[in-house]
Amino acid sequence: MDKKLIDESKKYLMNTYNRVPIVLRKGRGMKVWSSDGKEYLDFIGGIAVNCLGHCHPRVVIALQKQAQRLLHVSNLFHIEQQINLARLLVEHSFADKAFFCNSGAEAVEGAIKLARKYSRDHFPDDRYEIITARGSFHGRTMAALSATGQEKLQAGFEPLLPGFRHVPFNDIGALRDAVTKKTCAVLLEPIQGEGGIRMPSDDYFRQVREICDEHKILLILDEIQTGMGRTGRLFAYEHFDIKPDIMTVAKGLGGGTAIGAILAKDSVAASFKHGSHGSTFGGNPLACAAAVATIEMLLEDGFLLDGCRREGRYFIDKLEKLRKDFPAIIIEVRGSGLMIGLELARDGGPIVEACAKRGILINCISGNVLRFTPPLIVVEKEIDHLIDVLEDIFDRQSQ
Ligand SMILES: *Cc1c(COP(=O)(O)O)cnc(C)c1O
Repeated sequence: MDKKLIDESKKYLMNTYNRVPIVLRKGRGMKVWSSDGKEYLDFIGGIAVNCLGHCHPRVVIALQKQAQRLLHVSNLFHIEQQINLARLLVEHSFADKAFFCNSGAEAVEGAIKLARKYSRDHFPDDRYEIITARGSFHGRTMAALSATGQEKLQAGFEPLLPGFRHVPFNDIGALRDAVTKKTCAVLLEPIQGEGGIRMPSDDYFRQVREICDEHKILLILDEIQTGMGRTGRLFAYEHFDIKPDIMTVAKGLGGGTAIGAILAKDSVAASFKHGSHGSTFGGNPLACAAAVATIEMLLEDGFLLDGCRREGRYFIDKLEKLRKDFPAIIIEVRGSGLMIGLELARDGGPIVEACAKRGILINCISGNVLRFTPPLIVVEKEIDHLIDVLEDIFDRQSQ
């Protein structure tokens, strides 16, 4: 343990994160190494960011090449890498247009602005409300936080931005009842990530789409966590046989580089005109070069997406077996692709710690849900190793 650095971390950084006492210094593929040389198998993957694994050579080379050529230019000019990235996203999604920013929260902020502007352009002035879900997570900036359905994250930051109504996730009746003349959009995660890997029922999103169509309400999907191959499709909405009107992506988009995007259909994107929205760093050449390399890798031969589906099924099967062996400890296994949660009947903190001691990084959300979002390159024997370690930890806890 690197005591000096960790002491300085506490001294110089705002205390916003409850950090594990490990300083990570190097990463390759599924592995990371701490400053004291200990090796870890990374089942967090930067929270669904490092989709190709750490320091994927294609991403590193794209960054190196771009860094030598052009780091930043203003959006006052056309930017080649940004255009290439937009084309890739448009060609492989429902969208016709992209806007680039630097993070998930910033993408959500922009999506909320776009939905409101679209509504102003097409409907009476007081149609601005957005329905979102309880237990959702959309980011930490004020509008994104107001959209987020978790009071514990909002406490102390009031007054929140007006115009959000929260309904239980996966409850189509509650959503239908929440629609009023003021509703302009519905904003949902396809699978709730930070809320504890909460899955929708099979026909929930089809019904959400129907309600939106019936009332001419925009459907905004927040695919910041579920996107970029995480669930075994490039975007999770592809599982539901529907299309959103607006979508936010970030996390995995840059393969480890900070970038976010708002994607929209032409009819909606048209409401953003010259001067409607902007971002100094949004879509900068460096981040876009990394994102182009990342998407090209994800789409090449479908190799990574196939692997994600196959390893994801294997992973979930193994966790289900574990659940049968430890019914007093494990409540439920949930997930899709390599976005997997294991709900426990106890605090997950000690298990995260025990795993770290044994060289495996996982994290715990909502107090009792272990979350696994490894790089999409994870293989069976690495999953087997995690399962063995969990089995051993649960065994000791049962005694
Ligand atoms: C992580 C996340 C965000 C926020 O992204 P940041 O880059 O941390 O601002 C928003 N929505 C979802 C679904 C997320 O998982």
